[in-house]
Amino acid sequence: MALYDVIVVGVGSMGAAACYYLAKGGTKVLGIEQFSIPHENGSHAGQSRIIRKAYFEHPDYVPLLERAYHNWKQLEAEAGTQLYFPTGLLYAGKPDGVLMKGVKESAKQYNINIEKVKHSESKSRFPTFTIPEDFEILFEPAAGFLIPERCILSFTELAIKAGATIHTQEQLVSWKQEGSVISVQTSKQHYRCKKLIVTTGAWTSDVLPVLRQQLSVTRQVITWGIPQQWEEFTLGNFPCWLIDDAQQPGMYYGFPILPASKIGGPIGLKAAYHYPGKPTDANHVDRTITPTEETELVKSVKQYIPTGFNSIHLSKTCLYTNTPDENFIIDFLPNNNNVIVAAGFSGHGFKFASVVGEVLSELALKGETTMPIGFLNSTRFK
Ligand SMILES: Cc1cc2nc3c(=O)[nH]c(=O)nc-3n(C[C@H](O)[C@H](O)[C@H](O)COP(=O)(O)OP(=O)(O)OC[C@H]3O[C@@H](n4cnc5c(N)ncnc54)[C@H](O)[C@@H]3O)c2cc1C
Repeated sequence: MALYDVIVVGVGSMGAAACYYLAKGGTKVLGIEQFSIPHENGSHAGQSRIIRKAYFEHPDYVPLLERAYHNWKQLEAEAGTQLYFPTGLLYAGKPDGVLMKGVKESAKQYNINIEKVKHSESKSRFPTFTIPEDFEILFEPAAGFLIPERCILSFTELAIKAGATIHTQEQLVSWKQEGSVISVQTSKQHYRCKKLIVTTGAWTSDVLPVLRQQLSVTRQVITWGIPQQWEEFTLGNFPCWLIDDAQQPGMYYGFPILPASKIGGPIGLKAAYHYPGKPTDANHVDRTITPTEETELVKSVKQYIPTGFNSIHLSKTCLYTNTPDENFIIDFLPNNNNVIVAAGFSGHGFKFASVVGEVLSELALKGETTMPIGFLNSTRFK
C-alpha cells in the first residue's frame, strides 16, 4: 500500500493550492477530491471572487493578503494566464459602520492606498451608482477580482506537472492515526500518509466532527442580471463594489460584466448579499431558488445601482462555512500535530487561497510557518 508524505483531502480552493506548494517542494502528495475539479457543489463556483487589501474584517489579515497578492502573481506567471483583474473596488456605507471603519483602520495601519471620493465626484466617476448622501465613499485602486475556477485549475495542473497525484470522484470515508502513520479509507481505496491536510470546506464537520460546534454551513444566493445599458457595466467601465447596507446587517457586493468569450459564463452583471444565509447541510442543499429570493436581492441592489438589473438572467447557490467570529481556522488538530485543518472561511476566504496553500505546506513539512496565523487558531472559541 502506497505511503504518501502528505494526503490533502478536498481539492477545492485551499486544497488545490496546498497540493501545488507541496508538489513544487518535491513532496510525495496525494490530493483526493470527491467531485470534479472544479465543481459547483461547494464554495468556489460562480466566475469571480473579490480580492482587496484594506481588510475591514481584521487588520491582522493584511500581511497574509500581501503574500497572497504576491503568490497570485507568481501563479499567473507560471500558469501563463490572467487570474487577477485589477478593477478597483468602490466601498460605501455609513462612516462609522463596520465596513467603512474597518477599511479605514486597516488602510491606516498598513499604509494602503485608499481614495476618498466626494459625492459630487462620484456622480461623474461612478455614474451608474446612486449612493445615499449620508454614506461615505472610498475607492481601493489595487483591489479587483480573481477567477476562482481558473485559479483552482491552474494550481491543480501545475501540481500534477510537479509530481502530485490527484484523484477525483473519490471521497474520504474515514481516517485514523496508527502509530506514526495515518491510515486513510476512501470510497475507492486505502492509503497511508505521514501528514493529513483537511481542506474539505462545507464538509469539514463530517471529516473532523471535533469542529462541528465551530462550523455552520449556510446557503448563499448569487444572481446575474441584464442591465439597461450593457457597455456601462462591462469590465474596464465598471468596478467591483461593496456597500454596507444601512437597513440590514450585511453588505451587498458585485462585479463588472465579464466577457463570456474570454472568461466563460454565466453571462451578465453579478451581485450578491454578504451575510450568512439559511443554515444547511452540505449533503442536502436545496438548490432551487425562489422568485422571492431573487427579487429581494435585486430590489436591494437597485437602491444603489438602479439600472443594473433590468431583468434576471440566472441565479445559483453557493455555500459559506462560518465560524462564530467569521475568522478562519488554520491550525493543527487539537492533540494531533500530524493533522492540519484549514476551514471556516466564512464567505471571504478565496482571495487567501494562494497564501493558505503555502502555509499548509509549511505546517505539514516544517511543523510551523513564518506567516502570522496565530489569530486563526482553532482553540480560540473555548
Ligand atoms: C457566494 C459566495 C461568494 C463568495 N465571494 C467571495 C469573494 O468575493 N472573495 C473571497 O475571497 N471569497 C469569497 N467567497 C468565499 C470563498 O469562495 C470560500 O471561502 C472558499 O472557496 C473556501 O474554500 P475551501 O477550500 O474551504 O472550500 P471548497 O473550495 O468548497 O473546497 C472544499 C473541497 O473539499 C471537497 N471535499 C469535501 N469533503 C470531501 C471528502 N470527504 N472527500 C474528498 N473531497 C471532499 C469538496 O468537494 C470541495 O471540492 C465566496 C463564497 C461564496 C459561496
